[in-house]
Amino acid sequence: MEDSGRIVENGSNRPRTFSRLRRLPVVGRAADWGLGPRAVSKNTRQAGPRIAGLKADVSVCPYCSVGCSQLVYTRHGELVDIEGNPDSPINQGTLCPKGSASRQLIQQPGRLTKVRYRRPGGTEWEELELEQAMDMIAERLIRAREDHWQERDERGRRVDRTLGFAHLGGATLDNEENYLIKKLFTAMGAVQIENQARI
Ligand code: SF4
Repeated sequence: MEDSGRIVENGSNRPRTFSRLRRLPVVGRAADWGLGPRAVSKNTRQAGPRIAGLKADVSVCPYCSVGCSQLVYTRHGELVDIEGNPDSPINQGTLCPKGSASRQLIQQPGRLTKVRYRRPGGTEWEELELEQAMDMIAERLIRAREDHWQERDERGRRVDRTLGFAHLGGATLDNEENYLIKKLFTAMGAVQIENQARI
């Protein structure tokens, strides 16, 4: 991540829209869903914000095409928390449950880190080395291209393509990865190539 973050001093990351209205006690409490400064108890104020002293960087939730903005909090380069960015006109500080859990993309201890393979007809998962799995994918891609290569279409027009495979880019692939995937699959003759890139 680019080192452009700022250090949080007072933790006041509540939405700033309608700020004058929000200063009115009842309206402010309602507008901030009971979470704004008007609802803070004396004890909480003394304890201080839990994000104080952390570095905050702006990012984008990688999960869906809503594109909610996030604040990523770190301490000495270590990820500590991810919250909605109140400055974003899209999500105004909120995140859905999936976006709120995006820290688990990095820090979930139960996350799979090995390639798992269930062979045709198999009933159990096997663990493969990454290199072996990549070789298997490459072999199948080459075979599918050779078996389904189309030089001309049904009207005899030159097409030089294959409909034997397609590519669908996942939500957490970034623009640069999808750019390279598009180039690779087009060069191999694929027609159906889509992605959801925005990060
Ligand atoms: S926070 Fe939820 S709604 Fe927003 S981009 Fe992420 S997954 Fe989509």
